[in-house]
Amino acid sequence: MINFNVPPFTGKELIYIEEAIRSRKICGDGQFTKKCSSWLESYTRAAKVLLTTSCTHATEMAAILSNIEPGDEVIMPSYTFVSTANAFVLRGARIVFVDIRPDTMNINETLIEDAITNRTKAIVVVHYAGVSCEMDAIMDVAKRYQLVVIEDAAQGVMSSYKGRALGTIGDFGCYSFHETKNYSMGEGGALLIQDPQNIQRAEIIREKGTNRSQFFRGEIDKYTWMSEGSSYLPSELNAAYLWAQLGMAKEIYEDRMQSWNYYDELLSDLEEKERIVLPKITKDSVHNAHMFYIKVKDVKERSDLIFYLKGKNIHTVFHYIPLHGSPAGKKLGRFHGEDQYTTIESERLLRLPLYYGLEKDAVEYITENIKAFYN
Ligand SMILES: *Cc1c(COP(=O)(O)O)cnc(C)c1O
Repeated sequence: MINFNVPPFTGKELIYIEEAIRSRKICGDGQFTKKCSSWLESYTRAAKVLLTTSCTHATEMAAILSNIEPGDEVIMPSYTFVSTANAFVLRGARIVFVDIRPDTMNINETLIEDAITNRTKAIVVVHYAGVSCEMDAIMDVAKRYQLVVIEDAAQGVMSSYKGRALGTIGDFGCYSFHETKNYSMGEGGALLIQDPQNIQRAEIIREKGTNRSQFFRGEIDKYTWMSEGSSYLPSELNAAYLWAQLGMAKEIYEDRMQSWNYYDELLSDLEEKERIVLPKITKDSVHNAHMFYIKVKDVKERSDLIFYLKGKNIHTVFHYIPLHGSPAGKKLGRFHGEDQYTTIESERLLRLPLYYGLEKDAVEYITENIKAFYN
């Protein structure tokens, strides 16, 4: 069976986890958490990177830091993971969904301005498949209406837009290190902060509303309850796992890119024959080979293809039932404008197996079977 995903494992994980155990520090913010956040800070050039228990939690922190209040409206695409919306719903916001672009499956930047009302507080962009949204246009609208921009860059670690790391262009960026992402710690994520003025408050929110981070740095002589907060820091055991991945970030990137490019090459004739559509990378975007998907004719053809490939021991998946049509989405949000692409394009998309260490033979076997299906 060719699995859809295999969590990344480089070999160093066990050594680092053992080191964490032997150091007698397995709670958060030990040496491995520090190594990971420093690495991410120097790679992304964010003012601050805080490791979190998930991307979901990083987004919740961003929602608190953005001062979202009940009744505020937050604009985002409907084609996304539930956490993108939940983080803001938990602060009492109403979600305003706008349509996506069919080429990248990202929010259509030209539709955002029309969805803004006097209650709009933030725009949340999702860099689908690690391919950047059109950030210049989005930052321009945000600036004119004084809106906060949060980047759900869960899939965008090691991707960039005009040379800038995804997650560092808006006010806050959120990364995921879930086992299905390019770099993993089981469950985990990171919050990227641009404005140094937000750092101290973020540290407090992450540490149960206390100033314990400052205390550990020796900046104050006792720590106390300062504000609202929760527990958003991951264990050292998870950070140790991630450190093994970041230490080989380039190798993992190149390995995934090789598989991605090979899929693209082997499936290009099916696209020329107009049987399927392949992913498009926009000109200002450098992607990270997070995902290889194909788009087929419709939902029926997709079901048939999934079934066919399953019979050949190939596991493929699709995702994101658009949020605006879900029970929670209907209650907590609304779709602004016309759903021209969100639903139709989401029903056509199928993700192929892609993970660190995927064999060349496997890519050949998978693409041959897709071709056989169309013949
Ligand atoms: C994976 C993912 C998340 C959630 O990440 P977790 O680390 O599992 O919380 C959020 N948004 C998008 C777009 C994702 O792909």
